[in-house]
Amino acid sequence: MADTVFPMADFESGPTDVNLIRHVTEMKAWVKKNRSSAKTIGVVPTMGALHEGHLSLVKASLAKTDVTLVTIFLNPTQFGIQEDLDKYPHNLEQDLEKLAGVGPVTVFAPPVNEIYPVGFSTGITPPQIAKTLEGEKRPTHFAGVATVVLKLLNLSQADCAFFGQKDYQQQLVVRHMLRDLNSPVEIVVCPIVREPDGLAMSSRNAYLSPEQRKIALVLHHTLEYADCQIRDGCRDSFELIVDMRQMLIDGGVDQVDYAVIANPDNLETPDHIDSSVVALLAAYVGKTRLIDNRLIEI
Ligand code: AMP
Repeated sequence: MADTVFPMADFESGPTDVNLIRHVTEMKAWVKKNRSSAKTIGVVPTMGALHEGHLSLVKASLAKTDVTLVTIFLNPTQFGIQEDLDKYPHNLEQDLEKLAGVGPVTVFAPPVNEIYPVGFSTGITPPQIAKTLEGEKRPTHFAGVATVVLKLLNLSQADCAFFGQKDYQQQLVVRHMLRDLNSPVEIVVCPIVREPDGLAMSSRNAYLSPEQRKIALVLHHTLEYADCQIRDGCRDSFELIVDMRQMLIDGGVDQVDYAVIANPDNLETPDHIDSSVVALLAAYVGKTRLIDNRLIEI
């Protein structure tokens, strides 16, 4: 396994306001120091290439806990072999600059072999909720996510962990895992941050050409359409799902992985919409896989 996905040499220390930790031993010392002074710890797990969506989680943590730890780790085990691990954007220096502008945070950006040292052989079997949607299309994804999230929570000894609604199923997987394993960590889910035209912010948006960027907007428009239809009285999930899929195709996406209306707690599609639902989409624009979702209250 590669030693690190980030160039190490340039970043022995980060910009002022950002305390950079690269190694597990330093991480443990940082936790001990904060625990001994009874500080509450918030952790924001990320894969880097930070944008305003990530920064909103950092701000939420700064507001709620005494100290904030941002983890930047491009976790190889959550990528399938055909996926975009090798081209995933990364620029630690830029990430540190963005974080320095938000507030006093500590960054844990370990090399891969700190998280998966030689001999590492344990993994989490993710909860049942991981089997559908993303889990169907990316069969090894949530095992990688669950394992790394649990490791980061254990390492950071966090009181609260902050996740984005953007990865709707991911926060459910984490919640169910922590419930099943009796973890005391509180999960805080923050709203999706969007570009001014409505596109959900994502590190993967950087892959889009200007033309694809316009096509990508159809995900947001499809969610708005679903919201309007339900508000106007549509109660037939399956009819709406057919329309959503068609709208994505007509809008120019290259492949729809899923377009569903689901119960927000268990992700099952109700025949009849009689309470709040979540609309969830995953589609390819060119080779870029985009996801988005919207909670629709009735
Ligand atoms: P990632 O770096 O893609 O693993 O994302 C790290 C965290 O940021 C996850 O909890 C994501 O759900 C969250 N996140 C990513 N994009 C957004 C966004 N546009 N708005 C809010 N949270 C986001």
